[in-house]
Amino acid sequence: MNSRRDFLQKLGVSAVALQLGTVHVWANDKNASHQPYDGKVLRVAIMGLGGYGTRVAGAMQYCTKAKLVGAISGTPKKLTDWQDSFNIPAKNCYNYQTYHEIKNNPDIDAVYITTPNGLHHDMALAVAKAGKHVICEKPMALNAKQGQAMVDACNAAGVKLLVGYRMHFEPHTLEIIRMRKAGEFGKILFFQGLCGFEIGDPTQWRLNKELAGGGSLMDIGIYAINGSRYMTGEEPIWVTAQETKTDPVKFKEGVDETIQFQFGFPSGATASCLSTYSQNNLDKFYLNGQKGWAEMQPSTGYGPIKGRTFKGELDQPVTTHQTVQMDAFADILFNGAQPPVPVDGNEAVKDLKIIDAIYLAVKTGKKVDLNLS
Ligand code: NDP
Repeated sequence: MNSRRDFLQKLGVSAVALQLGTVHVWANDKNASHQPYDGKVLRVAIMGLGGYGTRVAGAMQYCTKAKLVGAISGTPKKLTDWQDSFNIPAKNCYNYQTYHEIKNNPDIDAVYITTPNGLHHDMALAVAKAGKHVICEKPMALNAKQGQAMVDACNAAGVKLLVGYRMHFEPHTLEIIRMRKAGEFGKILFFQGLCGFEIGDPTQWRLNKELAGGGSLMDIGIYAINGSRYMTGEEPIWVTAQETKTDPVKFKEGVDETIQFQFGFPSGATASCLSTYSQNNLDKFYLNGQKGWAEMQPSTGYGPIKGRTFKGELDQPVTTHQTVQMDAFADILFNGAQPPVPVDGNEAVKDLKIIDAIYLAVKTGKKVDLNLS
């Protein structure tokens, strides 16, 4: 621990980053590239300096191709703290009233939006208008209509739109995708995704319909939605869903506590998933094929991710997801790299279309057909 503290202090990373006790930063990054990098570095400002923004900021201290250079916040004290902790110049700091001025700042390439879900759409449009690349947290928006507007706005402004799908760079996940593509599981028959945690403070934005757009499905269920797509390699063509609520005071109208949903895929494979804000220890993926199976538990948490298949335990490297993601984003934005699983706005719109369909299926009690192609 001391060596970690020394290391961080040498980097000028102090109070804020040191709160990130659970972030794996270097010791276990077996696959970390120690090659010198002389390409273009992605210079990022983070907008919304909360829990996840702070985690990304800490992880970015270990990037080689991306660098945290700016911050946007509604809380003045956080901006001064971040200037000290992450060595950010005051001239690269903005609030929500001034960040449109970022267009005049040649030292920032992209803005990473880590604010509540309900703010992503308007903020992304403003960042695109300022001529900066948009990196947005999941869920990218509240619904597919908003998501498509974000894609269109970024296209019109000539900037790229990437979404923080950190699992798309996670080694155990990628190994199972590789095995599936190589036919090692045979014809895929079934996927199960279980995603949940017990949510605390009833006053938080995650339980506010306007800011969250829903409940557990928007926040954690989206991992099972996205996972069902990259694990099976198919897009769902129908959805059914059922909601249960044990605490209508905490989970108000429009804020789902628990939803179970099922997908059908063109091949005939099916998926069965659970999204909940009322159970801990739910972080599990299972993929079954005619010739073999794969299981991940934990499957989408910060790690360490663990996986096994019918051939045995997976021994992929443990990584800091956000460090790897941000280096990969630099490669995508500047070097035209194609990630194994897409991380662009169109990918996120597909998840949002599925979310819309799940909520419709809950409301109507009927099977909803989908066309994502
Ligand atoms: P937090 O509540 O911890 O932080 C959100 C920050 O947004 C606040 O601290 C605040 O920062 C800013 N903000 C601006 N307006 C508001 C408002 N009206 N209400 C509350 N906060 C506001 O949330 P998280 O960091 O946990 O989540 C942010 C986003 O990141 C969400 O979209 C979430 O889904 C996503 N996320 C993704 C994860 C992943 O693994 N990919 C994990 C966790 C979250 P300031 O004071 O600087 O303005």
